[in-house]
Amino acid sequence: MSLKPLIGHVEARHRIAQAVGSGKLPQVILVAGPEGVGKQRLALWTAQLLLCEAAGAEPCGVCRSCHLVLGLSHADLHWIVPIPRPKAAEPDKQVEEAAESIAEVLEERRKSPLYTPPDGMSSHGMATARLIARRAALKPVEGRRKVFILGEAERLVVQESSQEAANALLKLFEEPPPETYFLLTAADPGRLLPTIRSRAVPLRVGRLRDAEVRSFLAAQLDPAPAGAALDRLVARAGGSIGAALSESDAGQAARSAAASWLEAVVSGTGPAAEKALAQAPWAARGEFTDLLDAVSETLGDAARAAVGAESVRPVPGALVGREPARLMDAIARVSEAREAAQGNVNPQLLLAVLAGDLAEVL
Ligand SMILES: [Zn+2]
Repeated sequence: MSLKPLIGHVEARHRIAQAVGSGKLPQVILVAGPEGVGKQRLALWTAQLLLCEAAGAEPCGVCRSCHLVLGLSHADLHWIVPIPRPKAAEPDKQVEEAAESIAEVLEERRKSPLYTPPDGMSSHGMATARLIARRAALKPVEGRRKVFILGEAERLVVQESSQEAANALLKLFEEPPPETYFLLTAADPGRLLPTIRSRAVPLRVGRLRDAEVRSFLAAQLDPAPAGAALDRLVARAGGSIGAALSESDAGQAARSAAASWLEAVVSGTGPAAEKALAQAPWAARGEFTDLLDAVSETLGDAARAAVGAESVRPVPGALVGREPARLMDAIARVSEAREAAQGNVNPQLLLAVLAGDLAEVL
């Protein structure tokens, strides 16, 4: 699997390509912009351009270097991602552990390039700072240049106890070795250490256009969203592919919960059904209303399928062949519950009452 294509940021790409072409690309750049708009992807594109064997305004995409970058296996591309804190006590062991953790994350991204951000506990700690310093001291393996991408640079944690490692990193940013580039990305540059911010040349990127988000999602998501589902995803994305991806994950989880809940409802009042109803997964009120929305959408899909219309998503087996009028009646009941859910009601209780209602009308 290789990287998904970079979308948008035409102006930024143009500026970067011009600077690379004239040999004036700053060696330390901070790519700043909203979450999920492709800052790290733009940094990877820049790395590809810097390492490409052909000289052009775009990476050629066909040379050996381009292939290696797109497969995240170029030896002179160091994509540094936030990781959990190493467990080892000894500094050298910590650096090894950090290298392994980063390699694991990259392996995941190779397998599924549409990744979501690392958990809140992951960071760039001192072991990572040491790892960067070590790798920066080595000669390029493949070609003449080396590129480091420090994603989510605001997660760089400097501890008083490891001032030495922090200083080594700051020195690198201040006087980078020849033909070595550091591309930092941050959604919130204000949270970056001032000593680092002052050493990087800022490059601001904005939100993507709706049309760009739309074409990306339609081409890259599997299954591909279409029609109203795609419209909704684009609207909620607000110019951020990352937002659309987490939206579509949450949406998928809610739909699969809705499908099993509906199966349980129509299968009657046996112990299996009761268990399924009791286990309806929600942790927050938002998830509960998402579940109700997904139940409503699933019933809508079933109603459309029942009148012979094309359905966007597969209909759960338990709902196939139900009468359209009954399905519409069920949707009305869910809407009432959805309204009640805005108030201060017990979700468990509301869901139990709704289950009884739906079992009756279906
Ligand atoms: Zn190339």
